[in-house]
Amino acid sequence: MPYSYDDQNIFAKILRGEIPNDTVLETDHSLAFNDIQPQAPVHVLVIPKGPYVSHDHFAVEASEAEIADFMRATAEVCRLKGVSLGDGGSGFRTISNAGSHGVQEVPHYHLHILGGRPLGRMIEQG
Ligand code: AMP
Repeated sequence: MPYSYDDQNIFAKILRGEIPNDTVLETDHSLAFNDIQPQAPVHVLVIPKGPYVSHDHFAVEASEAEIADFMRATAEVCRLKGVSLGDGGSGFRTISNAGSHGVQEVPHYHLHILGGRPLGRMIEQG
């Protein structure tokens, strides 16, 4: 079954300028903004501007320019937020939830960048 994208999701509305966001970085193909309900002192969402639902959708169908832009944008966000290992930061975690088992709320591909405190183990046991 092909990937399907719902352009009424909240991040699509952000990209169309229909609702505001707290922008951290904008590039040709990507947008990064602070999460509205931060789970850590640093909690930024990085999204591609194109209509991709999940990490695998993006990885399969995005152009190399979009993928390179997105990856560089994530690194720049880490630098801007002071968590990059390349600038003496203490590190971070990236998370991308997909679909029902991944407990994805917003069906537009996004990478969470979390940091600013020790984050504990990766997932709860059980
Ligand atoms: P996920 O479960 O991976 O789909 O996470 C969606 C994330 O989007 C959550 O962390 C929400 O807090 C965040 N979120 C939802 N609406 C907004 C918004 N308008 N601006 C910024 N972050 C949002």
